Amino acid sequence: LRDQALQKAGEDAVTQDGKRIQIFANIGSLNDVETALNNGAEGVGLFRTEFLYLENDHWPTEEEQYQTYRKVLEAFDGRPVIIRTLDIGGDKDLPYAELPKEENPFLGHRAIRFCLANKDIFKTQLRALLRAGVYGDLWIMFPMVENVSEVKEAKALLEECRQELHKEGVQTAEQLKVGIMVEVPAAAVTADLLAKEVDFMSIGTNDLTQYTLAADRGNEAVAHLYDAAHPAVLRLVRQTCDAGQKAGIPVGMCGELAGDPKMTEVLVGLGLVELSMSAGTIPEVKEQVRGVNSTDARELADHALTRENPDEVRTVAAKGK
Ligand code: PEP
Ligand code: MG
Repeated sequence: LRDQALQKAGEDAVTQDGKRIQIFANIGSLNDVETALNNGAEGVGLFRTEFLYLENDHWPTEEEQYQTYRKVLEAFDGRPVIIRTLDIGGDKDLPYAELPKEENPFLGHRAIRFCLANKDIFKTQLRALLRAGVYGDLWIMFPMVENVSEVKEAKALLEECRQELHKEGVQTAEQLKVGIMVEVPAAAVTADLLAKEVDFMSIGTNDLTQYTLAADRGNEAVAHLYDAAHPAVLRLVRQTCDAGQKAGIPVGMCGELAGDPKMTEVLVGLGLVELSMSAGTIPEVKEQVRGVNSTDARELADHALTRENPDEVRTVAAKGK
């Protein structure tokens, strides 16, 4: 199976009954692009831009960011590239940012919250993105969104940057999609409201799991509780997919769960249309998709949602094959 998967890595992933599932790569820097393409990535489902900030000793300038985003977009040659705006705070600290210490950093001032409170830093990134978007199919994604106002405010800032650039005579992306990560339970529960404001949603199961199960994703002592296959998490995934479908926008997944080939059939059955993962697992997940019948997958997922715990879900997922 592994050989076959590798041979067909460059081909699309289409289910037995003709449903296309897009298989994208998660990347952290320009260095990951080649491996992603070689493994058959049809786009980038998550570019974690914080690495650009983490590997520097200063806030990366608009020009530095623009160059990097542009290169990634050009390398993907017109295929979708989802670039996530800065996600710091939580466990990701920036020495030069001098972030105040927080009692509960994961429940604190991170990601979109930090960016909306530090508009200069945020606008520098948005300007770089708008300029780079000229060179490919750019999708901008806001992390850790918890309510509709945050999305409206971020979109207004994006528009403000666009106007400023135009006044300066600088070209910006004509077509660009704006979306959010669904990684806070509140966002999943109100996905119908958020869906009205965005062009796409992508589920971050790493954070969604820790917040839904109240189990720190990095704490060994509660690692036995931390499992994205928990029916509570999967119900939120289904709810988000349903909301996306109703609103006519695509819902993908870019957390670790997306790259688990044993869960592929369940994920298709929950309604995800795009899965993004580290490059190495792309060929195998594509091969899994090719073996799926989407009606059977739907039934399998419905059944998984009625299980009592993650282990039972995983047993159901394994039997589906
Ligand atoms: C997630 O939370 O699932 C996610 C993809 O984001 P990160 O792992 O960077 O927090
Ligand atoms: Mg996250």
